[in-house]
Amino acid sequence: MINIQDKKDCCGCGACVQRCPKRCITMQEDKEGFLYPEIDRTCCIDCGLCEKVCPVINQGGNRSPIEVYASKCQVDEIRINSSSGGIFSMLAEKIIENGGVVFGARFNDRWEVVHDYAETIEGIIPFRGSKYVQSVIGETYKQAEVFLKQGRFVLFSGTSCQISGLLHFLRKDYKNLITVDVICHGVPSPLVWCQYLKEIGFIVQDKKPVISGISFRNKRLGWRKYGFEIRYDKEEANFFEMHRNNIFMRGFLHNIYSRPSCYACPAKGGRSQSDITLGDYWGVELYHPEFYDDKGVSAVLINTEKGKRIYSQLKVDGVSTDYNKILLGNSCIEHSVKISKYRDDFFDVLNKSEFSLIGIITKRTRPSLLRRIISYARRITGI
Ligand SMILES: Cc1cc2nc3c(=O)[nH]c(=O)nc-3n(C[C@H](O)[C@H](O)[C@H](O)COP(=O)(O)OP(=O)(O)OC[C@H]3O[C@@H](n4cnc5c(N)ncnc54)[C@H](O)[C@@H]3O)c2cc1C
Ligand code: SF4
Ligand code: SF4
Ligand code: SF4
Repeated sequence: MINIQDKKDCCGCGACVQRCPKRCITMQEDKEGFLYPEIDRTCCIDCGLCEKVCPVINQGGNRSPIEVYASKCQVDEIRINSSSGGIFSMLAEKIIENGGVVFGARFNDRWEVVHDYAETIEGIIPFRGSKYVQSVIGETYKQAEVFLKQGRFVLFSGTSCQISGLLHFLRKDYKNLITVDVICHGVPSPLVWCQYLKEIGFIVQDKKPVISGISFRNKRLGWRKYGFEIRYDKEEANFFEMHRNNIFMRGFLHNIYSRPSCYACPAKGGRSQSDITLGDYWGVELYHPEFYDDKGVSAVLINTEKGKRIYSQLKVDGVSTDYNKILLGNSCIEHSVKISKYRDDFFDVLNKSEFSLIGIITKRTRPSLLRRIISYARRITGI
């Protein structure tokens, strides 16, 4: 049976929980806000299935994509509301048009991030846009399995470890399944996210105005200068900060509160076995200047023949490109991020609760004196 000795050895995919025939595994939150399986040994029959489906114990081999594209959705409104070039929405619409079901991550009514499914074009809109918080996978692998057995087309999207978890859970190659993972920097703690929302005072239900939308990748200043936005029912209350000025994004990008497995990712470098991998094509302006614009360009890695077939049916603008060029601007495709030296200290202090989260992150992400001098010099010289 599953026995986690080191937290980095569990990505929280929930495959073990969903596959256990005796339902004796539940996910429990730890003090950092991440979910881990806990086994009720009194009902375990020692069948070993939980270990067989674990994507950390059974890691796939590295793969290189068979084709690689810079790609953009042709509908501006969709691209602007997507994090990169809007290719996820094009894939999802194609599946829905064929009577299929799409799984992805959305906010629930408490602005937590959860996995869910949709069967309509309107239903896939909440999945649009990256949410930089680990999503709760719930029972979605089981739900996907039911649809697959019914013969429906299923598109399952998520982080690479979630896709690897799904494929291990299914343990069978379904022709009607398309899997799409994202190039993944890591997933921040849901506890830190909730604490952040509470602290900035926006989640209090009896306090007006009420949140109507949250975007981690708002493009009002462009794709490269993306910002964090909270929208309200009263437009004048909207909150926007460029990513590098937003405290939640700063802590995430400094790798302070991602899940421990994200610093030793079990599914990068094609190991998820997904059909398609989507990400940002940072640096596209250098390699394809005629194709670049600041509304967002996706990096599309086609990993399988199945992925190639569905991508070829999309109405998107795309140019073939070189994998190594994408890798240059996006090392997260193959490499895990480096753990912050402040991580342990951050959670120790956070759990003492007498300190404000915003203060704790600000202190641990302050630029060094040298960095401040360089940026001051740049500002005054304009270089
Ligand atoms: C946590 C996270 C880290 C990422 N890190 C990088 C990175 O380092 N480099 C890079 O190039 N790209 C990264 N991406 C991917 C990138 O931000 C876009 O999601 C991707 O390029 C798809 O963009 P799109 O415009 O095609 O569609 P969009 O509509 O922007 O993408 C939505 C897709 O993301 C999925 N998704 C959103 N939030 C989550 C979540 N919390 N958990 C699981 N799935 C989620 C949805 O299910 C859907 O499939 C990351 C995404 C996430 C969620
Ligand atoms: S060994 Fe079997 S019964 Fe026991 S926890 Fe694992 S899956 Fe469940
Ligand atoms: S990685 Fe997934 S399958 Fe493995 S122990 Fe963690 S939740 Fe269970
Ligand atoms: S970095 Fe790896 S372990 Fe972490 S969420 Fe992404 S795919 Fe999963």
